[in-house]
Amino acid sequence: MSEVLNVEEIFASKVFTLGKMKERLPRNVYKEVKKVMDQGGELSKGAADVVAKAMKDWAVENGATHYTHWFQPLTGITAEKHDSFVTHPDEEGKMLMEFSGKELIKGEPDASSFPSGGLRATFEARGYTVWDITSPAFLKEDATGVILCIPTAFCSYKGEALDKKTPLLRSMEAVSEQAIRIVRLFGNTEATKVVASVGPEQEYFLVDREKYLQRKDLIFAGRTLFGAPAPKGQELEDHYFGTIRERIGSYMKDLNIELWKLGVTAKTQHNEVAPAQHELAPIYETANIAVDHNQLVMETMKKVAGRHGMTCLLHEKPFAGVNGSGKHNNWSLATDNGVNLLDPGETPNENVQFLLVLACILKAVDTHADLLRQSASDVGNDHRLGANEAPPAIISVFLGEQLEDVVKQLVETGMADHAIQGGKLQTGVSTLPDPDKDATDRNRTSPFAFTGNKFEFRMVGSSDSIASPNTTLNAIVAEAFCEAADELEKVKAEDFEVAVHDLIKKYLTEHQRIIFNGNGYSDEWVKEAKRRGLPNIRSMVEASGTLTTDKAIRLFEKFGIFTKAELESREEILYETYSKTINIEALTMIDMAKKQYIPAVIKYTKALADTVIAVKEAGADASVQAQILSEVSAKLAEAKEALSALEEKMEKSATIENQKELAFFFKDEVFVAMEALRTPIDELEMLVDKKVWPVPSYGDLIFEV
Ligand code: ADP
Ligand code: MG
Repeated sequence: MSEVLNVEEIFASKVFTLGKMKERLPRNVYKEVKKVMDQGGELSKGAADVVAKAMKDWAVENGATHYTHWFQPLTGITAEKHDSFVTHPDEEGKMLMEFSGKELIKGEPDASSFPSGGLRATFEARGYTVWDITSPAFLKEDATGVILCIPTAFCSYKGEALDKKTPLLRSMEAVSEQAIRIVRLFGNTEATKVVASVGPEQEYFLVDREKYLQRKDLIFAGRTLFGAPAPKGQELEDHYFGTIRERIGSYMKDLNIELWKLGVTAKTQHNEVAPAQHELAPIYETANIAVDHNQLVMETMKKVAGRHGMTCLLHEKPFAGVNGSGKHNNWSLATDNGVNLLDPGETPNENVQFLLVLACILKAVDTHADLLRQSASDVGNDHRLGANEAPPAIISVFLGEQLEDVVKQLVETGMADHAIQGGKLQTGVSTLPDPDKDATDRNRTSPFAFTGNKFEFRMVGSSDSIASPNTTLNAIVAEAFCEAADELEKVKAEDFEVAVHDLIKKYLTEHQRIIFNGNGYSDEWVKEAKRRGLPNIRSMVEASGTLTTDKAIRLFEKFGIFTKAELESREEILYETYSKTINIEALTMIDMAKKQYIPAVIKYTKALADTVIAVKEAGADASVQAQILSEVSAKLAEAKEALSALEEKMEKSATIENQKELAFFFKDEVFVAMEALRTPIDELEMLVDKKVWPVPSYGDLIFEV
């Protein structure tokens, strides 16, 4: 028997939980902390000192030597700078480990080397990290030792957000404030806030580390830039939910343990559609913490993979031709007295508050489909959205049979007098139970699907932070709630019922074009969406401009989520990020083609030529060898030509100064030239002796983990 794992005991053992604070803080300080957490405001200096000391004592007892303000700059990953608790020794050389309230609350990393998109000139290097009391501090343990990590927001000297957390927190406050107005209209006087909850399902690939190290594309770009398809792909559908192999299972076990210790509720694990692809989902929690935890999940996935001789690939499309990876972002809103605003109940047609919330969300998604699409774009996700993989780049909402029917009744008659019920599941086997059925089947092709009591936003990329999608969701829904509340608060009590019905009908009628329950992967949908006037934004660079339309600026400024300057800087950073990423990919391709593929093929042609001569000399028929030689030589010439073309494009790119123009050049010219280089090399891989091929193949990478 293996050792019994006490999950309850290890869970959150590395987190400075509320429970630990309660234990270690004087009552009044604990109460102050709790109040700030729940209602906002600032901790007094005295209380901050007490919290800092308790936090430090706990950390040191658990082996910590350093602390760090852990933050999320616009690189999309997290950043940390460690400071030890070491202080100046006294005369006798005795040193005491210390940590003050001031150090807890504010840090000042040099901000000049983080992306700021022109918000801050390099000479204005000051940036501040500010403690986010709503996300618990935790311990990170690795070769560096044990580090106390304090989640923080990151802002410039002038208070502009330089990170992903600040706008998210602002958006959570905005949606809470507006949603409270809605629930008040329906007589809820108890709720004090409405919390956005998020459960992200994280997909990932695992490859053998030795093989990974033989592929420069995986090392530098996180995805394969070349590679002929393996004889087998995912067509047998035998990997999805398949038995988890021993090596992967032992990885998942370690991963879960590490995550549980960090207070992450790792819940579901399974094999995904593509070979070597897997998924992990935690239980949903407050959006802010879910974002932080998702960063920890991604980081821990990579770290634990190393221990198992593997590498975890979080890229959206590590391998062409097989499924890419996404991150389903499950999102809902609930009051602090336990009402999920997205719970329709048994009879949604009678649940007027739910119908209003639903109508507002449909309006929000339709009005800002472009922004929502933008929030899910990153460089890697261009290979999924709008490319030959779904979900498509067109935003639409799946409601399911039951709600679609309710919406139809409301639009047609202004009244919904019934709701389709699920009934019993009939298996046709007498010994099987007949469980209740959901009122609605699932739809796997919708980018934004209602799934019972939450929306599942499926566009998000696997490597991306989920901060942006949730910031955008909160913001657009806050706006719709605000507009509805503005209308309805004016209405006299006796007219409320009629007014709310009219408003629901109006919103549903005006925005029903966003509802689509059919197959989102089909070509017909692309045509139909065009007819409906829904935006189809096919790339990240095209999506970036949506941040600075008048509509977007009005929305984000109104709710204090982004200023115009912040939006402009973010757009700029997106262009820069895109160009830099494609630049790295193109340089990697050039490097691999020049130093690995072409030399290998040249060697192979030499061997073939020698064979042809030898066979001929021996008086035998060398036509097959000669034919292969000429095929390989022709492809080699094609590859060389494509390589030169790509190099030319790269030279041209160096002359473009405008960031937007450059990003479009990388998308329209460089990226296309990269594909043109890939084609002949992949064809060569199919022709050339495997022994001389310089890198592991797709088959080696995804079937032999
Ligand atoms: P699947 O979509 O694969 O069937 P689940 O329904 O189990 O998966 O849920 C997926 C994710 O959605 C999980 O992280 C889960 O905790 C989260 N989730 C469930 N209910 C809610 C909710 N009300 N709000 C936000 N997320 C939720
Ligand atoms: Mg799901």
